[in-house]
Amino acid sequence: MIHNEDNPNVVLIDMDNTIADLEKWAAAGYSLRYGKELPIERLDFEFPPEIDKELKVVLKQPRFYYDMPPIEGAVEAILEMHKEGWDIFFCTSPLSDYEHCVPEKYAWIEKHFGREWTKKIIVTKDKTLVRGRYLIDDHPSPRGNFKPHWTHIVFDQSYNRQGSTQNSKKRIREWKHWRSVLSNK
Ligand SMILES: [Mg+2]
Repeated sequence: MIHNEDNPNVVLIDMDNTIADLEKWAAAGYSLRYGKELPIERLDFEFPPEIDKELKVVLKQPRFYYDMPPIEGAVEAILEMHKEGWDIFFCTSPLSDYEHCVPEKYAWIEKHFGREWTKKIIVTKDKTLVRGRYLIDDHPSPRGNFKPHWTHIVFDQSYNRQGSTQNSKKRIREWKHWRSVLSNK
């Protein structure tokens, strides 16, 4: 699609912990592998290094990304958004050990949305390089090389509720309420 002007309807949507329930799936995989609970403490969004190292082993397993369950209401909400005129792109940062993660993210989108939707996937470690009106993302403060073009809408998770900047941002607490945040077209 070619526009002479910026398309005002582009919405970028993160995958992990925004539409795909990595948190739940990782906790299950972690306790299965290590016989202990995944600790809930995080340091500024990231897990402590020793936990992160163990967790990465779980995340790198074949089928980990493919089998991850969607977050409740996410698929339905995105199909509704699409139907109501928003141009959706999935904007996702892969594991650096990408071997299973990246193709399985494509396969996951195909499984839940259909193959056409795999054309809407943007894989990047720096989401500030991507343009759009909104970025819906659970990360409390997505940063990169540029001042973001998009407005960040926080997808609510327990670990992103703290911090001074969080109060001023719009927030989606549950996908079924997406219209109350994206209503001002
Ligand atoms: Mg995320």
